Amino acid sequence: MLEVKILLNDREMPKKWYNVLPELMDLKTPFSPPMDPATKKPMDPSKLEVIFPNALIEQEGSMKKTIDIPEEVLKVYNLWRPTPVYRAAKLEKALKTPARIFYKNEAVSPAGSHKPNTAVPQAYYNMVEGIKKISTETGAGQWGSALAFACNYYGLQATVFMVKVSYDQKPYRKMMMKVWGAECIPSPSHRTNFGKKILEKDPKSPGSLGIAISEAMEVAASSQDTNYSLGSVLNHVLLHQTVIGEELKLQLKKAEITPDILIGCIGGGSNFGGLVLPFIPNKKAGENIRMIAVEPTSCPSTTKGEYRYDFGDTAEMTPLLMMYTLGHAFIPPSIHAGGLRYHGMSPIISQLVKEGMVEPRAYHQLEVFEAAVLFARTEGFIPAPETSHAIKATIDEALKCKESGEVKNIIFNLSGHGHFDLASYEMYFDGKLKAGHDSTI
Ligand SMILES: *Cc1c(COP(=O)(O)O)cnc(C)c1O
Repeated sequence: MLEVKILLNDREMPKKWYNVLPELMDLKTPFSPPMDPATKKPMDPSKLEVIFPNALIEQEGSMKKTIDIPEEVLKVYNLWRPTPVYRAAKLEKALKTPARIFYKNEAVSPAGSHKPNTAVPQAYYNMVEGIKKISTETGAGQWGSALAFACNYYGLQATVFMVKVSYDQKPYRKMMMKVWGAECIPSPSHRTNFGKKILEKDPKSPGSLGIAISEAMEVAASSQDTNYSLGSVLNHVLLHQTVIGEELKLQLKKAEITPDILIGCIGGGSNFGGLVLPFIPNKKAGENIRMIAVEPTSCPSTTKGEYRYDFGDTAEMTPLLMMYTLGHAFIPPSIHAGGLRYHGMSPIISQLVKEGMVEPRAYHQLEVFEAAVLFARTEGFIPAPETSHAIKATIDEALKCKESGEVKNIIFNLSGHGHFDLASYEMYFDGKLKAGHDSTI
């Protein structure tokens, strides 16, 4: 049993993304395609051509089991991939658990999270199809900085609408975007008709991801050389993120570890999907792998939301997606885990939750920060507040093993580091986060 770290050499790296869509067609919970709000019929993919490159539209509905990762994308992945899998031996010891805890560290990318796994191919396909600019939204700035990095690499201009409350309070990721040459605009803004409409009603609006998506889409839809890019939720985003789970499978095989529980945090569902989707065929074939998706109690889309068709944005510009949703007008409280503040959930993850294959769970931010500090003090890495939701669930599962005496292999995805979230840690240490309710920043 390997004690410290599992790596792969370059030759062992996965060369394909895993597409779970074909596996979702025969579940009890029917697969429900995106719907055109105008016709209430399945969306005609060609309608998306004004905002997405063809390659991504094709991937969004592809029924191929795997999709080759372009050579040019593999080269960039190679800057930080494969990401290591660590045994959290010191955390196990602190918990006195017989369980074995492992984590896949996606924080080692240039932007500090898993998000470049999809930002890079998205920028690449846009570049190949002659697009010069990409507009997008960002919450706490993780996605905006990842896309800024990727656009800079391929010579594209990125315009990022950043949720205003984060723009004002989280200056460092805004600065990362600037370093990589992107323009970052607080949302709601006067740049778009929708932004102006929101500001007219509420000049002090803190913004939300739903509003920022609407603004970014408006810019892309009204300009020929500009496309739009989304950092989570959609099928092609989860597809690109499967490089995480594909690597993990190879790493576990190499170290002869069989996974019992896979855990990830969920905002739109992309890092969790990237981790678990390659294991769906194993689960369908009867292997006993539990998959736990963790969200904040303040934005409880899968634990308290409804499973129905809803818009992905506030201005009702996106196709209708079948998903767990709190309603597209929902503006979540400004918790520290900015990346988990989205009203909906990826349709793929939603279907798997509805089907009972993925177990959803929610935690308050105080218990999440407690878990984060224990992890940092045992394993060293300081996790992002988003990631810390997965760590809390991991600790709880490891403690259950302590009660039952079971030796389980628990693996969680360390989706990002918390170096730009230290102000949130400070509030935690100052006792400003209270149990039971989620304070704002
Ligand atoms: C954006 C983000 C998340 C949440 O997004 P998903 O699409 O659900 O993965 C989680 N962790 C980190 C570090 C993030 O940046």
